[in-house]
Amino acid sequence: MESLTEGAGKGCLLKSSENKTCLVTGSSRGLGRAIALAFGKAGYRVVIHYKDRKNEAEDTASKIKEAVAIKADVRNSKEVKRLVDAVINKWGGIDVLVNNAGITKEALLLRTSEKDFDDIIAINLKGPFNFIQAVAPCMVKQKRGHIINIGSFTGVKGKQGLSAYSASKAGLIGLTLTTAKELDIFNIMVNAVLPGYILTDMGTQSGSKAKETALKESITGKFSKPENIAKFILYLSDTGGITGQVFNLDSRVI
Ligand code: NDP
Repeated sequence: MESLTEGAGKGCLLKSSENKTCLVTGSSRGLGRAIALAFGKAGYRVVIHYKDRKNEAEDTASKIKEAVAIKADVRNSKEVKRLVDAVINKWGGIDVLVNNAGITKEALLLRTSEKDFDDIIAINLKGPFNFIQAVAPCMVKQKRGHIINIGSFTGVKGKQGLSAYSASKAGLIGLTLTTAKELDIFNIMVNAVLPGYILTDMGTQSGSKAKETALKESITGKFSKPENIAKFILYLSDTGGITGQVFNLDSRVI
C-alpha cells in the first residue's frame, strides 16, 4: 500500500464534510461539458480539463460556482501528472475522475493510417491510463474514489469504419475491469459508461450514414442526450458497492 501512495503529495486527506472534487477530462465542450455542469450544479468543485479550446473551457468553468480550467494533452503523462498535482495542491484531493476526452476518425480498416491508429489509441486508451495512474495514488490515500470511463457501444459491438476507435474503446473496458479489481480494496469504484449516439462535435462530424444507422438500431429512434448521461454519472458517483460494470445508456440492444 505504501508504494501505491507514493507521489500522492501532502493532500489527499479530504474530510467528508468538505465539498467533493470532480475532474472531468475533455470538458471544454460536448458530453464532458454537460457532465462538468451537472457536478457543478450538485455542489462539487470541478476541474475543467481541455487541450486546445481554452475559451470554451473557461466558459464552462464560469458557469460553475467553484471550478478551474486546466490544459493538458492526455497523451502526455507528465502534463497529466502536473495537472493532477495542481488540483491536489488547490483542493486537497480528488473524489471523482471522469475519463471523457476522446477523438474519432472514420476510415475503413484497410485505409486507416498508422498515425491515425496510434493517435486514437493514445488519446482514447492511454489517456485514461495516464489519468488513472496520476489520480489513483491520491484516492488510495483517501480510501475512497470513483473512476468513470466513457466508452462506446462500438467497443462492444464494433462498427464499419471505426476499427481504431472501437479497439480503443474495447481496450478501455479491459482497463476498467482490471482497475476495478485492483482498486476495490481501497474503496475505489471503477465503472464504464457507454453513452449512446450524441450530437456533439464528434457526433455531428460523422457521416450521415452513421447517424442513420444509429437511429435505425435504436428502439426509441432518438439520439442520446448529454444531460441524461451526465445525470446517470452523477448518480453513479454517489453510490457504493457498484464497481467493474459497463453501463449501456442507449436504446440500441447489445
Ligand atoms: P467532442 O469532440 O465534442 O469533445 C472532445 C473533448 O476531448 C474536448 O474537450 C477536447 O478538448 C478533448 N480532447 C480531444 N483530444 C484531446 C487530447 N489529446 N488531450 C486532451 N483533451 C483532448 O466529443 P464528445 O463530447 O462527443 O465525446 C466525449 C466522449 O464520449 C469521448 O470519449 C467519445 O469517444 C465518447 N462518445 C461519444 C459519442 C458521441 O456520439 N458523441 C458516442 C459514444 C462515445 P478541446 O476542446 O480542447 O479540443
